[in-house]
Amino acid sequence: MGEFEIRRNPHPTPPEERAAALANPVFGTQFTDHMARVTWTSASGWHDRRVEAFAEIPLSPAAAVLHYAQEIFEGLKAYRRDDGSVWAFRAGANAARFVRSAQRMAMPELSVADFLDSLSALVSVDAAWVPSGAETSLYLRPVMFAAERFLGVRQARRYEYLVIASPVGSYFAGGVKPVSIWVEQETRRAGPGGTGSAKCGGNYAAAMLGQVRAYEHGCDQVLFLEAGGGTAIEELGGMNVFVVLDDGSVATPALTGSFLEGITRASVLALLEDRGVSVVERSVSLSELLSGAGSGQVREMFACGTAAVVTPVGRLVGEGFEVSVAGGVPGELTMSIREQLMGIQYGRIEDRWGWTTRLA
Ligand SMILES: *Cc1c(COP(=O)(O)O)cnc(C)c1O
Repeated sequence: MGEFEIRRNPHPTPPEERAAALANPVFGTQFTDHMARVTWTSASGWHDRRVEAFAEIPLSPAAAVLHYAQEIFEGLKAYRRDDGSVWAFRAGANAARFVRSAQRMAMPELSVADFLDSLSALVSVDAAWVPSGAETSLYLRPVMFAAERFLGVRQARRYEYLVIASPVGSYFAGGVKPVSIWVEQETRRAGPGGTGSAKCGGNYAAAMLGQVRAYEHGCDQVLFLEAGGGTAIEELGGMNVFVVLDDGSVATPALTGSFLEGITRASVLALLEDRGVSVVERSVSLSELLSGAGSGQVREMFACGTAAVVTPVGRLVGEGFEVSVAGGVPGELTMSIREQLMGIQYGRIEDRWGWTTRLA
């Protein structure tokens, strides 16, 4: 544990340039003036906690991460409220998941306190970068990787932890529109005993071909099935899924260890239970989903994750089928959960769950 030393960027972005970036933020393209950073070595553990200028980092061509992909990350947002204050949503859950991801990938664990301190140190220094427009936020991206210059296969003796930040606008410029989903039946992103429930870049590498196939078929997102020949649905490339059934109950795939346990997923479960909705975590097969979408038994379907919050699904496409879901319009429960969740995140609805914490 220790304080983050602030080393200010001597050449920050001019205010007018920053204002232009904030007026029209495009996800993941612009970054703030600083980054938080902590280094781990086998000799000293976690040390040198600092906030420094956002800049390229020297990395040996032999750095272990480039060869063996020992890397984990997180994704969360800082939300500006109407009174100007800046808040995080369930950051402690991200910190805890970062520890679990590190354990699975045989990486050193960063303490929850260091994780949370790194966020508030960075956001305090770059507070002017948190946009204030409707549905905008500052996306925070913690990442840790094996930085040692060494090609042998073992745990590295040096890891770098960084937090970078990027202003983001509403995922749905021009109103919420249901997304179309490609059901990938050829490739799998993860399997039993694998890394599917760790938030690591390798899972995204495994999912990329499925995402490409989704685009080729005119779809926005890809839905992955379980590995091993079964047809239970798991999750999208970076979002969990829910279905609303015609008896008013809601189902979501039960955690199997081969897909990611989203914090948005957990929050949606809590909000639904609080409303008295019957929610079941269970196996949902592709045939149940397709026949239900056709017959109306599946009344709504939505995806959820930090980036897009709650996103209605309007169409399912795969090898040999194409079905519309909920008539291709945003479902009522989907939209009401979306409003409630965003209301809590932006402080417009009372946070009875203790999910929000002030960053700046
Ligand atoms: C991050 C992520 C999610 C969503 O998790 P949230 O905590 O809700 O943002 C879902 N699936 C994958 C593969 C992810 O990496």
